Amino acid sequence: MLKSKSVMLIIALLTATAVTALAFHGALTAPGGSAAPTIVIDPGHGGADGGVTGKNSGVTEAEINLEISLLLEKSLEDRGYNVVKTRTAEGTVAKAGSEKLLDMEKRKETILKTVPDLVISVHCNKFPSSERRGAQVFFNKFSDEGKRLAESVQNKLNILNMENVGRAFSALSGDYYILNCSPYPSAIVECGFLSNASDEALLLNADYRLQLVEKLADGVSEYLLTD
Ligand SMILES: [Zn+2]
Repeated sequence: MLKSKSVMLIIALLTATAVTALAFHGALTAPGGSAAPTIVIDPGHGGADGGVTGKNSGVTEAEINLEISLLLEKSLEDRGYNVVKTRTAEGTVAKAGSEKLLDMEKRKETILKTVPDLVISVHCNKFPSSERRGAQVFFNKFSDEGKRLAESVQNKLNILNMENVGRAFSALSGDYYILNCSPYPSAIVECGFLSNASDEALLLNADYRLQLVEKLADGVSEYLLTD
């Protein structure tokens, strides 16, 4: 009895796995047979370039950016999208701060090689006044699609901004390398201010990071599903 029960259980598990695999494969191919959208996630900074540092905890932006990027990758893949990252580990594309230009060029190479539907660059912000806070999205002002992407993501992030900061923000244009280096719709997401103690606490909170990533993925999905 035990033995046949185990066999049944194994068969049931294998069937479930096969169904899941089929469902997942199906999600990667659009009805017309075209491939699922591909998204480049660019976790800002890394290696010797830690980016900005947490006011209280000393956490580096590079660590938080990578953590959020890995969660975002999973969320987008769960939704059936293909994801390519410009950086996959704590280290970075280039080793030292003096190699910043090389680092940025390698990120650009990854984007151009991937030919993505869109690019999301993940960062954390800093401001001289520690009062300033909230999640803020930037786009290249010469890119209408980049602007549409940034607004879609900002709208979703504003749900969290309203809850935590008490106000919404508009997506802003900005002159940044990662926004200007390719023709693909691109947005920089500044997930919060590490110069603000409340934002820092949120960014260090695993539950909040998951909420943030779901809103980011919602914004990306909405952008891809509408014209
Ligand atoms: Zn940054």
